Amino acid sequence: MADDCLFCKIIAGEIPSNKVYSDDDVYAFHDINPAAPTHILIIPKKHLTDVSASDANDQALLGKLLLKANQIAAEQGLSEDGFRYVINTGSDGGQTVYHLHLHILGGRALNWPPG
Ligand code: 5GP
Ligand code: ZN
Repeated sequence: MADDCLFCKIIAGEIPSNKVYSDDDVYAFHDINPAAPTHILIIPKKHLTDVSASDANDQALLGKLLLKANQIAAEQGLSEDGFRYVINTGSDGGQTVYHLHLHILGGRALNWPPG
């Protein structure tokens, strides 16, 4: 756990969240400010500031993050109409919380390209 990391505090239960899924490695919860009818964040329990902070030691963890996201998307009923994964990275990427998170967005037709 990193000091002063919002998502580490959510994982620890120090800040409440609306949990979707949890296991030893990953945690998923509803975004507090949803940008789509379904907007879930899935995060590694290991503190990584962003996706580029990961390395070969995190290969299995990153794979698991995607596979669990697929499971959650299916359970949320997003498989038929589709959905989007987003990993904002750094200031130009629009990242605001510096603990790696994958956005799962769905439930409406999403615009492209992003702003
Ligand atoms: P980013 O902009 O870093 O890619 O995404 C951060 C996301 O975290 C935003 O969509 C924001 O709404 C969400 N968020 C920020 N603070 C909280 C919080 O305290 N609880 C939850 N559930 N989501 C949060
Ligand atoms: Zn963290």
